[in-house]
Amino acid sequence: MTFHDLNIIPSVLKALDKENYTTPTPIQEQSIPAILAGRDLLGCAQTGTGKTAAFSLPMIQLLLEQQQGKLTAVRRIRSLILSPTRELALQIAENIQAYSQFTDLRCTAIVGGVSQKVQERALQRGADIVIATPGRLIDLINQKCIDLQYVNILVLDEADRMLDMGFIHDVKRIIAKMPRKRQTLFFSATMPPEISKLVKTLLVNPVKVEI
Ligand code: AMP
Repeated sequence: MTFHDLNIIPSVLKALDKENYTTPTPIQEQSIPAILAGRDLLGCAQTGTGKTAAFSLPMIQLLLEQQQGKLTAVRRIRSLILSPTRELALQIAENIQAYSQFTDLRCTAIVGGVSQKVQERALQRGADIVIATPGRLIDLINQKCIDLQYVNILVLDEADRMLDMGFIHDVKRIIAKMPRKRQTLFFSATMPPEISKLVKTLLVNPVKVEI
């Protein structure tokens, strides 16, 4: 199996080649076709399995397909990734930057502990993909500095850790700011009852992938 077999487009294949990714990992093999087909996804996987690329590669591709042939004057946030920690968010942003380096997509990280002004300016310049930790994102939402009404792909990464860290209320408030009609990709290493409950309210007929 190759990334080409998974129908990954040339501009992304070129980036994977540059990053020396030759073979998809099991979670990538299982998730990429389902996500490209527009399905919601429930992934039970730990870090280190290649889950970031499993959701990022098809997400990048779907965003590019959406804009094909369209001369959009305004860049809107169409994909939001929520992560429990700043370190993970920055890691995801770095990966997405690498995978999308031969495209015109723009991504930006919205995390705590760094200047909010710099992040506001990045948002004003425009981003297609935002990778955020819940706390700082809520601040920007409250200050009306960010518009989530065009988000059509939502990723929750390490949902169980977001729950453990007490972010569940913030996560629900953030999700309420985006359209109900969207594709949702949900990753969690464990499935405690509260996570199962959240899954039921957020995912529609999801494909389940367990690694
Ligand atoms: P993750 O589980 O997303 O944190 O990924 C773990 C590590 O594996 C990261 O350093 C990725 O860059 C790397 N990686 C992910 N997918 C592949 C692949 N198909 N081939 C080679 N390296 C990969």
